[in-house]
Amino acid sequence: MVHAKRTILIVEDEKSITTPLAEALERDGFHTEIAHTVSDGLAKGKSVRPDLVLLDIGLPDGSGLDVCRELRRTSSVPIIILSARGEEADRVVGLELGADDYVVKPFSAREVIARIRAVLRRASSPARAGEAPIQIGPVRLDPAKRMVSLNGTSVELARKEFDLLALLMQEAGSVVTRERLIDEVWDVNWFGSTKTLDVHISMLRKKLAPGLIHTVRGVGFRFASPDEVA
Ligand code: CA
Repeated sequence: MVHAKRTILIVEDEKSITTPLAEALERDGFHTEIAHTVSDGLAKGKSVRPDLVLLDIGLPDGSGLDVCRELRRTSSVPIIILSARGEEADRVVGLELGADDYVVKPFSAREVIARIRAVLRRASSPARAGEAPIQIGPVRLDPAKRMVSLNGTSVELARKEFDLLALLMQEAGSVVTRERLIDEVWDVNWFGSTKTLDVHISMLRKKLAPGLIHTVRGVGFRFASPDEVA
């Protein structure tokens, strides 16, 4: 079934949010499943195999961040966090845990659906088949397999970390501006904090060797050129 409806799992305890949101999604051609708790969210995350998860942070039996962490252990399903105003720190943690995006409450169904479509588009864009692996110094990045290794040992990267690294390595030796990184790795309509970018860069630095990703103050970041690390 190539044209099967895509399933959106909504993990959110407030019915005043889930009911209209599910209706709007169904009108837009999605199939929806709803979970009201962490445990239900994890169970449905496994049983219904959603194409995307909308994830509230404040759930009755725990934090949506735990759902995010748990789902990421076994799956790269796109996750959009539904976060309340003032939960900035939680949003950053969510993105670090591998969530793809977030929307801030109160939101309109239209806004969420636009986000969903953008995230799904990104997630399904083929891993640029035919693009050759890039090796610079100790780091090897394979765009087709979405794999990164350091000195031959595979490195686990979150989706956004991989996308960031791919862009930086493709432009190795040149500065990539913060604006371009945010536009290409997140979304042109990204209205989150640009701190998110710095968080991801520092995660990459921790996971890779030091001295590979240089900060160009006020402009952006630059991956070392092959000459520099030869
Ligand atoms: Ca809630």
